[in-house]
Amino acid sequence: KKELLTRLKGRKNITRDGHEIKIYANILNSEELELAVKNDAGGIGLFRTEFMCFDRPAFPDEDFQFYTYRKALEAMEGKEVIIGTYDIGADKIPDCADMSAERNPSMGCRGIRFCLERESIFKTQLRALYRASVYGQLSILLPMVIDVSEILRVKELIVQVKAELIKEGKKFADNVKLGAMIETPAAVMTSDIIAKEVDFFNIGTNDLEQFTFALDRQNPCYDRVSPKNHRALLRMIKMVCDNAHANGIKAGICGEIAGDPTLTEIFLELDVDMLSVVPSRVLPLRKAVRSISLKDPKKAENDLKLFL
Ligand code: PEP
Ligand code: MG
Repeated sequence: KKELLTRLKGRKNITRDGHEIKIYANILNSEELELAVKNDAGGIGLFRTEFMCFDRPAFPDEDFQFYTYRKALEAMEGKEVIIGTYDIGADKIPDCADMSAERNPSMGCRGIRFCLERESIFKTQLRALYRASVYGQLSILLPMVIDVSEILRVKELIVQVKAELIKEGKKFADNVKLGAMIETPAAVMTSDIIAKEVDFFNIGTNDLEQFTFALDRQNPCYDRVSPKNHRALLRMIKMVCDNAHANGIKAGICGEIAGDPTLTEIFLELDVDMLSVVPSRVLPLRKAVRSISLKDPKKAENDLKLFL
């Protein structure tokens, strides 16, 4: 039976045989936040905060960030909001970051590397995030992780930030989650170890594809060369999901392929917990999920063999 997209608002992302998956939205500003709400996203799967830093002389201060994060948390009314810490570097270099030119910026000082080198900028962001945390369900996501040691260092900084806030009499929630973006082959291959130090995984397939295929994601030949259902990528996604579940945490996908309807069934079969897509893809993806039945175990088995 055909279902109109708008009629799907308020409905579950559930297959015909009862398998549920979360569908969240990726956003980078308040217009997209509004679209996420309008399209009934189950949460925010990735708020790309680095875009706040463009076209301004300095990094946004703590209060500006606090109000921005608070607004997102309040708009989502208690649904999970995953906010990525600054993913600066590569193709996202705001003037205020004052970075010297790198020979190969996509393999340069980016994501969590940038944040750990620029500790005061990072701590300001963490303070704003924790202060905002009382206004909803906040999850913090660390981009470009390659090793568990980076997570441990961030946790030390979080302890410091919390101690400061307590001293200043500022409130924060005690249920803030910390997650790792799995977008390097190194993070995939050590995801069993990283899983023990974080509350969730979000697989960033845009970068993971680039580093797995050794193919610049901005190269014009990208679409011709990179097969979206390449076994290497699907095996990595499976490994990350398995390692997450073995350690009692969840794994989502927030790269472009999360919204690819030709892969929805395989993601369900791999037991991916969440797909995060541009706001306009939320309802079409819900529709796709609701048309699928995973009931036939032979079929699922064959699919997995085909792909894995
Ligand atoms: C990714 O790399 O898949 C991702 C979601 O982050 P970005 O596209 O911002 O690098
Ligand atoms: Mg990325």
